[in-house]
Amino acid sequence: MSRLNVVNCNRTIDSQYIMKFFSSKPEGSDQDQIVADLRHRLQDASLPAAVSAIASQELDVLAKINPSSAEFTIGLTYIDYLLSLPWNRKTEDNLDIVRAERLLNANHFGLQRIKERVLEHLAVKVLRMNRQVRLLVIDDEEIARKNLSHVLTKEGYEVVTAPDAEAGLRELDAAEFDVILTDLRMGKVSGMELLETARKRHADARVIIVTGFATVPSAIEAMRKGAFHYITKPYKLDEVRDTVKQALEKRAMLSNTKGTVLCFAGPPGTGKTSLGRAIAQALGRKFSRISLGGMKDEADIRGHRRTYVGAKPGRVIEEIRRAETSNPVLMLDELDKIGSDFKGDPASALLEVLDPEQNRSFLDHYLDAPFDLSGVMFIVTANMLDTIPDPLRDRMEVIEFSGYSQEEKTEIASRFLVPKQIREKGLSPNRISFTPDALETIIREYTREAGIRNLERRIATICRKIAKESLDRGPDHRVTVMPAAVEQYLGRRKFHFEVIEEQDRVGVATGLVRTETGGDIIFVEAAKMKGTKELIITGSLGDVMRESAQAALSYIRSRAVAFGLADDFFEHQDIHIHVPSGAVQKDGPSAGIAMAMAILSLLTGRPIRRDVALSGEITLTGRVLPVAGIREKILAARRARVSVVVLPAKNRADVEELPPDAVQGITIELIDSVADAAAIALVQPGRAAGSA
Ligand code: ADP
Repeated sequence: MSRLNVVNCNRTIDSQYIMKFFSSKPEGSDQDQIVADLRHRLQDASLPAAVSAIASQELDVLAKINPSSAEFTIGLTYIDYLLSLPWNRKTEDNLDIVRAERLLNANHFGLQRIKERVLEHLAVKVLRMNRQVRLLVIDDEEIARKNLSHVLTKEGYEVVTAPDAEAGLRELDAAEFDVILTDLRMGKVSGMELLETARKRHADARVIIVTGFATVPSAIEAMRKGAFHYITKPYKLDEVRDTVKQALEKRAMLSNTKGTVLCFAGPPGTGKTSLGRAIAQALGRKFSRISLGGMKDEADIRGHRRTYVGAKPGRVIEEIRRAETSNPVLMLDELDKIGSDFKGDPASALLEVLDPEQNRSFLDHYLDAPFDLSGVMFIVTANMLDTIPDPLRDRMEVIEFSGYSQEEKTEIASRFLVPKQIREKGLSPNRISFTPDALETIIREYTREAGIRNLERRIATICRKIAKESLDRGPDHRVTVMPAAVEQYLGRRKFHFEVIEEQDRVGVATGLVRTETGGDIIFVEAAKMKGTKELIITGSLGDVMRESAQAALSYIRSRAVAFGLADDFFEHQDIHIHVPSGAVQKDGPSAGIAMAMAILSLLTGRPIRRDVALSGEITLTGRVLPVAGIREKILAARRARVSVVVLPAKNRADVEELPPDAVQGITIELIDSVADAAAIALVQPGRAAGSA
């Protein structure tokens, strides 16, 4: 029974050996055959020596235990798994940046800044890999310089020599070196002083002291001052070669630690995954994905220990096995959605995977042998960066993706999504087309998103229906999808809420907030009733948002007279603030200004212009502080057809950074205070509601 359990739990591990084992009744000779087969495979596989030794030991055990025991199956599965991993198998990188650029452009519209960052990242990788290693040899004896130079040049390094420390320092200032080999006693400046200067000015270069005057104290001093190694003359050439190699390995690790992992952050459907795929394609690497969303256990990442039945390797190793190479592009999705009830520390588990200092010998609990992950190119994705622990964020080069404007969506749909869906549904591109108006209708009335995921789904639905029609009507069936046809294919429109269709109302303000899925508009409603100075807040608001409401009310109370209100207006009243869509959890300080407007409007009786949307944090003194996510908020405002967006003056730089087409059709008002906002958002006394 336990045997079957093992197999069920390890569904991912299948092999001819295990199949064979279970299809016949295990007998002594079968066992011998299986073990012998595995031994052959082990000999043929080029596993690292340490792994080979582990597998061989396991096989010895396997040969001796009862083949019908659970241990036998566990051992068999384990060895088979070890053998199935691509320990030394790598794909050759294609390092042609021009080709990479062409591929990124062929798959993606726009995203100019992002593509540039990605190409820069790849270019640095290429340069690092192609750059010849440079060594500096400083010695006052010509014969010593010649000797070292000869040996190290033969190793493929570029070697520059200098007869004394001054000349050495000049060389160091002129160009970058990876390793410096220096004598200790020479000329006016000693090797020790050179070491100190080099460590200060060229922290990345490793210094190896090579001296005929070695003493224990000088060796200790050199190490304390940051020398990488200390070699005494006469030396063996192998010793020098090995030490240089070690120094270079250490240097490679250090220079790799920062920014080697790309992090794509942004709302869903903005092209993060497909850009990751395009990078893999450009480099000629395999592509795999792991979703971290909802992971609850360290074992999901690092595997279970083999000691219990049903143990499995972690997802990272499993994906490497599936990719069949040890250097795929591995995308770790939804870093910000790791289960909050995660058992163990997700940051430290992930650091082991992502950090080049640690991932050279990544230890999966199931494998129990170190696997070198340093060849893997990791790309992490997240919707929001706020919840990602700092140690992880420090290791990543963050590239922010933002939502698309209506125009960009139409462009992407007609150039990429429609042709793709037509192809996928087996339709003929010459017979099917979508007019730009139809695409716009789909975007406006059937989707409400920052990215284009639902847009792609809707286009897919229409193409599917047309495919069915084509079957009924024959191959000559031609369709041009126009706005009227959209409703016919997709049913009644899903979203028809646009602020301009609404009336200006007292006590209802339009706020702009950033959510995981991009930006969104919210409505803040305020009502008053007889009562005893109570502020009631509802609508699933987080603590920060509740505090914003309190700050808004306190500020207005403190300035009651200036706003034309009775000093004691709150004495016999309760005020209720509600933000509808209660099922959606909302938080953040940026709704403060909208709350202040809703309360002011309620108390003064002046309606709020419905075509004005606001975002800004407020202080108790009525100042307005800057907020994040300006681009996403403006896109959300445009989606809702808002015409005026009120933002903090301190966000001026963010606004000025936006391309002109991102703010098309929108007036942006920058304000410093709640009073400024009121002057714009509240309908002037004497003007009728709705006439703003
Ligand atoms: P994410 O990973 O950000 O959620 P995806 O990469 O899955 O988004 O993108 C969703 C769909 O939109 C994919 O089919 C993708 O090819 C397409 N897409 C996204 N951005 C672009 C773009 N700029 N140009 C062309 N297609 C795009």
